[in-house]
Amino acid sequence: MTASTTAGVAREFSERIGRFEVSATAVVVAEAAKLKAAGVALSDFGAGEPHFPTPRHIKDAAIAAIEQNFTRYTATPGITEVRRAIVERHAADFGSDYSLDEAIFTTSGKLAIFYAISALIDHGDEVIVPVPYWVSYKDMVQYMGARPVFLETSEADNFRITAEAIELLITPSTRAIILNSPSNPSGAVMDTADLERVVRMAHERGIYVLLDECYAYLTYKGSPVSGGSYTEAKEHVVVLGSLSKTYAMTGWRAGFALAPKPIIAAMGKLQSQTTSSSAHFVQKAAVAALSESQQCVAEMRADYLKLRDEALAGLSEIPEITCTVPEGAFYVYPNVKAYLGRPGAQTSMELASRLLQEGHVVTVPGEAFGTHEHLRLSYATSHEMVAEGMARMKAFFADLRNKA
Ligand code: PLP
Repeated sequence: MTASTTAGVAREFSERIGRFEVSATAVVVAEAAKLKAAGVALSDFGAGEPHFPTPRHIKDAAIAAIEQNFTRYTATPGITEVRRAIVERHAADFGSDYSLDEAIFTTSGKLAIFYAISALIDHGDEVIVPVPYWVSYKDMVQYMGARPVFLETSEADNFRITAEAIELLITPSTRAIILNSPSNPSGAVMDTADLERVVRMAHERGIYVLLDECYAYLTYKGSPVSGGSYTEAKEHVVVLGSLSKTYAMTGWRAGFALAPKPIIAAMGKLQSQTTSSSAHFVQKAAVAALSESQQCVAEMRADYLKLRDEALAGLSEIPEITCTVPEGAFYVYPNVKAYLGRPGAQTSMELASRLLQEGHVVTVPGEAFGTHEHLRLSYATSHEMVAEGMARMKAFFADLRNKA
């Protein structure tokens, strides 16, 4: 069936939608779901999602809000209370200086990123994206008709991103740089000095820096840092936040952006023509999350750190697998190069598929993140799951070595 015709040529979908691929993480989740439905017990390190329930006080705030009928449309950028909570939380934690009209609450961090890219990036623009990258940046940039320019990083140097390396990629078409620290998938955290240099260099050159701070509070070394705190460079900085991981609120779809007023206004225009606003009671819950005690964040982080060390210890027992030590987020990104190039495991995609089918362990292949020698494992799961999954991986890789 054809949806429309252009100049007499039958066309099923827009050319634009063809620039999107289904997220590779979603593909793995679907394959794993099939096995689960068939009754297979999986060690699931696939989806990046906290295993903790949303903290009690946040749930209570949402329940109270529903009871009090906060169930209607709100102002497009979010209620004043939630924008104040966003601005104050960020200022208290990072020393940033945003006003209420420089903040917008969005239906997910992902949508905040999409709005920012839509508002700033045009056909023919170039956007610098460090590798490994979070799956959606590439597709969103391509969707705008722009070109992602990949910054290769060195695993031996902990996937370090420097201003000098970025500068080498800048052309007259460079419009933005997307940074994600701590990184999904590698867990790498940008050095504060590197972050500051990138932000200042970009500002001087009139290039936007989109700072994806989804995991900003999940750092295991030093205090969290935000490029949004370099107030002199603020004109070119867009902070993109999410409550999903920080407060175990993935299903609430709660995110935000902080940026100069004209950028927030442009993002608000998009929100006004799409979702209108986020759910009122979710905004109320977000106020509780952002304004009340942050003890829950510290507790979850402490457990993630233990889980990380257990995952790293498990991986270290598998011969020929190496892994950088992630300093943030909740992923390990082991290098499985030694196991590739074998029949049935030519690529990390094939290896992940075999690990799932034969070892019953869910991982995401590095191809989803722009590298070819890795698997991503999310350790935001129980200690038992990590122990069991690591034992299964050890057995699977031993078997693979024996077959070689
Ligand atoms: N950015 C990164 C790096 C992520 O890993 C995610 C979610 O996995 C997001 C942004 C979006 O989070 P959400 O849409 O749940 O707020």
